[in-house]
Amino acid sequence: MSGITLALSKGRIFEETLPLLAAAGITPADDPERSRKLIIATNRPDVRLLIVRATDTPAYVQHGAADLGIAGKDVLLEHGGAGLYQPLDLGIARCRLCVAVKKGFDYAAAARPGGRIRVATKYIDSAKAHFAGKGMHVDLIKLYGSMELAPLVGLAEAIVDLVSSGGTLRANGLEEVEEIMPISARLIVNQAALKLRHERLQPLLDAFAAAVRA
Ligand code: ATP
Ligand code: MG
Repeated sequence: MSGITLALSKGRIFEETLPLLAAAGITPADDPERSRKLIIATNRPDVRLLIVRATDTPAYVQHGAADLGIAGKDVLLEHGGAGLYQPLDLGIARCRLCVAVKKGFDYAAAARPGGRIRVATKYIDSAKAHFAGKGMHVDLIKLYGSMELAPLVGLAEAIVDLVSSGGTLRANGLEEVEEIMPISARLIVNQAALKLRHERLQPLLDAFAAAVRA
C-alpha cells in the first residue's frame, strides 16, 4: 500500500492523459482499449492505473481506493467533490456544457422568468442550478446517454449535454441555444492521502503541473 494508484477512464481522458504521464516519466504497460485489464501496471513499479467508468472516478478517489484521479468538471459537479482536492485543471478533454433544442423551438420564449420547460439530461444538479438561476421552472428527466434523441421524440423540449464540435447536435437537427459552462478534466486527490502521503504524491502533482504549463 505504499505505491501510487491513479484512477482514470479510457477513451478521450486516457488518450489525453498519456502525454502528461509521459512528462512525469510514466508509461502504461497496457493499452486499455485493447487489454481487458482494469488494473494497469506502468514502467514505474510504484505507480499503477485503475481503469474506471468516467462517472465513477470521484468515488474511487473519495474513498481512497485510488490516491489520485482524472475526472471531467461535469462529473465533479454532479459528484459534489466531497473528500477531494482539485488542485489542477489539466486542460484536457475540453468541451462545454450547454442547452440544446430542436431547430425552430422558441427557446427565448420558454426561457423567460416563470417559464416552464422539460429538460432531459445526465447532469441533473448542474441543469437544476442553471435553470433556477434564470428563474425558470424545469421538469428534469434523468437520462444516461443519447440525450439528443429526447427532443426529437417529444420526451423533452431541451437537453443539457456536453458539446465539443457540435456534430452530433447537427446530425440530429438540434441547435445549441445556451452555454452553461466550459468543461475540462481536473486532477483530483484524496484529501487524507494528500496529508498522510504528501512526500510520495507531491512530486507527481508537481510533474503534472509542469506538464500542463509547458
Ligand atoms: P460513456 O461514453 O462510456 O457513456 P462517458 O460519456 O461518461 O461514458 P466519456 O465519453 O469517455 O465518458 O467522457 C468522459 C469525459 O470526457 C466526460 O466526463 C467529459 O468531461 C469529457 N467529454 C465528454 N464528452 C465530450 C465531448 N463531446 N468533447 C470533449 N470532451 C468530452
Ligand atoms: Mg460519452
